[in-house]
Amino acid sequence: MTAPERVVTSPSPPRLVLATANRHKIIELTRILADLAVPAALAGLGEFPGAPDVAETGVTFAENALLKATALARFTGLPAIADDSGLCVDALHGMPGVLSARWSGRHGDDAANLRLLLDQIRDVPDDRRHAHFACAAALVLPSGAEHVSEGSVHGWLVREPRGSNGFGYDPIFVPDGDDRTLAEHGDAEKDAISHRGRALRGLAPVIAAVS
Ligand code: IMP
Repeated sequence: MTAPERVVTSPSPPRLVLATANRHKIIELTRILADLAVPAALAGLGEFPGAPDVAETGVTFAENALLKATALARFTGLPAIADDSGLCVDALHGMPGVLSARWSGRHGDDAANLRLLLDQIRDVPDDRRHAHFACAAALVLPSGAEHVSEGSVHGWLVREPRGSNGFGYDPIFVPDGDDRTLAEHGDAEKDAISHRGRALRGLAPVIAAVS
């Protein structure tokens, strides 16, 4: 994990904590939650020194999201939201999947991960380059109650990166029905169709009930 980052917080005491230290994901998660009209009483890992650095040992996105949210809810005594996400490539039998962030061996090295993946599927013809992003979002309450919501976006992979928005594998992923990569989409456009947007919107009723 990289150094914890702060999220935008309100002056009121935090009532929800986001279990992620990934700067790009914090930006997307806070943006999507703000869009859901969740009060901005959000805190990030950076506001809880000593918060556990949870290893992502699960074999599914949901397991990893629950591991992270459970640990943080216990540590902070607050409802905690965590997500786990990744890119699943058909020609690689669903990999990198839960290993997406560390596919090249260096956790969070987006450029190296993307380059390795492109090299691995260089010989895969255009009509077999299907892939999808998947996300599981978990909300765990201090009582231990768990809620999980999953979302995905399907598309295909281009041969050379295009666009400068977003992060990770966005520059090589074109959603079905479009001809632009996700890195060529605006923020709101991406949120509307993205795996993370869909997963978090599925949690909205529970988030609203606790915030
Ligand atoms: P984790 O959920 O922190 O384990 O990491 C997810 C990894 O999957 C990221 O580091 C990216 O490589 C990739 N990923 C997840 N969501 C996205 C996305 O919306 N766009 C591009 N890459 C993503």
